Amino acid sequence: MRRLGANYVVCSPDRILKNAYVELNDQGVITDIVEFGDNFREISKLEFFNGILVPGFVNAHCHLELSHLKKEIQPQKGLPSFIDGVRNLRFSQEESQIQLAMQQADRQMRMEGIVLVGDISNTSDTVELKTKSSISYHTFVEVFGADRYRAAEVFERATETKAIFESSGLKASIVPHATYSVSERLFEKITDLSYAENAIISIHNQETASENQMFIDKTGELFDYFKSSGIDYSSWYPTGRNALQSALVQLPKCSKVNLVHNTYTELSDIEKALEYNSHLYWTFCPNANLYIENRLPHIPIFVEKNLKICIGTDSLASNDRLSILNELKTIQVHYPEIPFTTLLAWATINGAELFDLQNIFGTLEIGKKPGVNLIENFDFVNFKLKNESQIKVLF
Ligand SMILES: [Zn+2]
Repeated sequence: MRRLGANYVVCSPDRILKNAYVELNDQGVITDIVEFGDNFREISKLEFFNGILVPGFVNAHCHLELSHLKKEIQPQKGLPSFIDGVRNLRFSQEESQIQLAMQQADRQMRMEGIVLVGDISNTSDTVELKTKSSISYHTFVEVFGADRYRAAEVFERATETKAIFESSGLKASIVPHATYSVSERLFEKITDLSYAENAIISIHNQETASENQMFIDKTGELFDYFKSSGIDYSSWYPTGRNALQSALVQLPKCSKVNLVHNTYTELSDIEKALEYNSHLYWTFCPNANLYIENRLPHIPIFVEKNLKICIGTDSLASNDRLSILNELKTIQVHYPEIPFTTLLAWATINGAELFDLQNIFGTLEIGKKPGVNLIENFDFVNFKLKNESQIKVLF
């Protein structure tokens, strides 16, 4: 049994305790939460820390498979150039080096206080790592293919990959890569399975300006890139509407859909999306957006609409560190009006809900096993993160 205390214990965004502690059993399940308030006293076995205690973080978007590409792709060249970098470098290293990089990334995430990850996988390369990890993973088996005649083949391969994860006791669902990289037929197959399994979907959304343009009239920088790389878009047709609307209507209305990046999403996109699906989650990966496009989503419009926001790190191909705290710091620097407790909800309970694991993760509550993070060097006066704030994993 351990008793972990701090100046503040942020059980959830609307439950902040002063001079308090959480009691955990040896498995990390919370058995008690006690607040001293202004009447602090010493009790046996109490480990008291300077800072705030928060639940373990949820990383709603990562690609472990790209961990070996850290600092390999030139930053701020835009999405087409980034995609080109991934395509060229993805298999550029020995399998053992790729495995090592993935294992290091997994360990780093745990050190950063991350307890649950939604990980995009194109292969079954991460199965062994995920079964051994102390992090819980939901694997999004990602498919792409704009060539409608190859949809059956692509989907079959993904079904096999998903089965490998599931036979190892890992949760997995088949998801489209991005709005623009999946044919109608492939969308149909994903959607049919999602209906049948009530699966969680994830999709890269509106990550670059020309993504919308491509759907309007099949022009723009992104489409030009595909054309010049010889990727077959001959059986892919524009819809005349923005990317998000075009993709969303091809996905199940009643499934949870994790929309990732949303860098170029406008208010009108959000409003149309909400008319179609009321189970949307909006994941921001700000440091990756700065790395790839040198731009951030217009986060205040999402806040204003009271949307379910989550935080992702994306991969080490577009980020220096897989740290949710670092992502929160970036948002706070650019949008200082957003309260810390709101940011914390994005980094914890919203992600737990996305993965249907809110009974274990997301808040500090008796009976849950959410992980306990200490944030040191916290700005108590303004109740905000400082640039020097850092995570210490206590459980
Ligand atoms: Zn991604």
